[in-house]
Amino acid sequence: MADTEYCRRTAVTGLSVSPTDAARLRELVDAWKRGCQLAVNEAWGVCHTRSEVQQLAYDRLREETDLGSQHAVLATHRAAEAIKRAREREGERPEFTTPTVAFDTRTMTVFDDHTVSLTTTGERVRCDLKLSDDGYQSRYLDDDEWEPAKSTLHYRDGEFTFHLGFRTPRPAIDSPTEGATVLGVDLGVENLAVTSTARFFGAGELNHRRDEFEEVRASLDATGTRSAARTLRQAGERIDRFVRQRLHEVANGIVAEAVEYDCELIAFGELSEAADLLPEAETYHEWLFERLLSFVEYRAAEEGVAVVEVNPEYTSQRCMECGFTHPQNRNLDESQFECLKCEASAHDDYNAAKNIAFRCVRRGPLSSRGLGAAACALQSGLVTPDDGFTPYAELSEAPRSD
Ligand SMILES: [Zn+2]
Repeated sequence: MADTEYCRRTAVTGLSVSPTDAARLRELVDAWKRGCQLAVNEAWGVCHTRSEVQQLAYDRLREETDLGSQHAVLATHRAAEAIKRAREREGERPEFTTPTVAFDTRTMTVFDDHTVSLTTTGERVRCDLKLSDDGYQSRYLDDDEWEPAKSTLHYRDGEFTFHLGFRTPRPAIDSPTEGATVLGVDLGVENLAVTSTARFFGAGELNHRRDEFEEVRASLDATGTRSAARTLRQAGERIDRFVRQRLHEVANGIVAEAVEYDCELIAFGELSEAADLLPEAETYHEWLFERLLSFVEYRAAEEGVAVVEVNPEYTSQRCMECGFTHPQNRNLDESQFECLKCEASAHDDYNAAKNIAFRCVRRGPLSSRGLGAAACALQSGLVTPDDGFTPYAELSEAPRSD
């Protein structure tokens, strides 16, 4: 079935890995990177669909890497996606350097006891998922409505994390409710979230605390004593509590903003694109985004507000005033968006949030409840594709008059 028939979620979770299994997973990561690169090298300039790349490169991957049959297939598909993306951007031939490996239900099994079994280049490994106690991952793991789906293993600084994918069939859309208003939200590294109504949620403290924690970890790793391990664990728990509290504040703030502006939808850019679109984002930030989204969904559901994801490509390059799209519309040093064509300027995250809302309107009915967005909520008025901008003051039921 096509991707669009499912709602997808990802829960980022740590993995408890024994030294033997860690060695096996590291070998898999190396074989995967090599396999993807081999497939790209074969197919670059030749073909780019999954089936073509698979047909062209599969045998060579099986001969020249230790990847099992299904991982060899997945690596050719990953290569095809990378080639397609590079072609769309007229970019260079992709290089596979990031230590990640894709899994599907044939290469992983998730068990009810919260362990996962993973195919490697040798024996399968089985490890415990390190779940957080706020139920963030369990919401999907323990809910029969969500089934495990495409996932990704990440290896960084000696630690493995697993981006566990879930999917659930998208309910059929009967009759789209027209006329919903959407709040757009742009996620980022400096500002964790910015809404299309110009509310900014900074990530300064989140980044600062994480840096402090990394310093503690680096200094304690060197000592390796038992008390050092305890200190590190306590520091980890402290930052975990802080992060959770801050994410709840931001999630509550976003939903409050939606309620205040009478929005029935909140739109985010698809998180699966975040790593590609935000090169400055680290695994930590991707993890923050995933958790924030799940907190927002939870909180939004209580208010009867639906959360949707839209394709975020070019939302940071497009001018919300005139639609002109160009990478150099952005002045990255100053976080400013300055349109080369109409000279409109705005904070670049704010401009992106407006574009995300607008894309949601353009896309038509999309949420599980069949809501179709008709207007984007901005700080001072609504934007629709047909009528353009209307200030709240001119609307009969203005959500806010400022
Ligand atoms: Zn412009």
